[in-house]
Amino acid sequence: MSKVNRYEYEGKIIEIPLRWDEHSKKEIEDYSLFIEQSPIYTPEGRPLLLTIEDACPHAVMVDDDPASIDCGSCVYFRQPAESILGVCHNEKMRCVSAKQRNTSSNKEETL
Ligand code: SF4
Repeated sequence: MSKVNRYEYEGKIIEIPLRWDEHSKKEIEDYSLFIEQSPIYTPEGRPLLLTIEDACPHAVMVDDDPASIDCGSCVYFRQPAESILGVCHNEKMRCVSAKQRNTSSNKEETL
């Protein structure tokens, strides 16, 4: 059975597989599956993103630094400590259908 690191982001559980890295001689997190499955949403329909994700047209950067080109530099990005994933809190990026899907699947689970 492969090893995973499990995280919880605003109600969404994410499992990141670990793989052996020959260069660093240690296990590292493998985000390739996360990228394949993207976009992934929280139960509230907010996208879960990598900090290095290219900024979208709705970004508001924390500074005027031209190097600020990714979600990690955006005021809407909420990133837990020691994580390279975070949640976008920009309402323009919220997916209403993802929220509805989550709500209906939660209702089905409770029936
Ligand atoms: S955090 Fe959200 S609003 Fe900001 S750049 Fe990323 S996707 Fe766009």
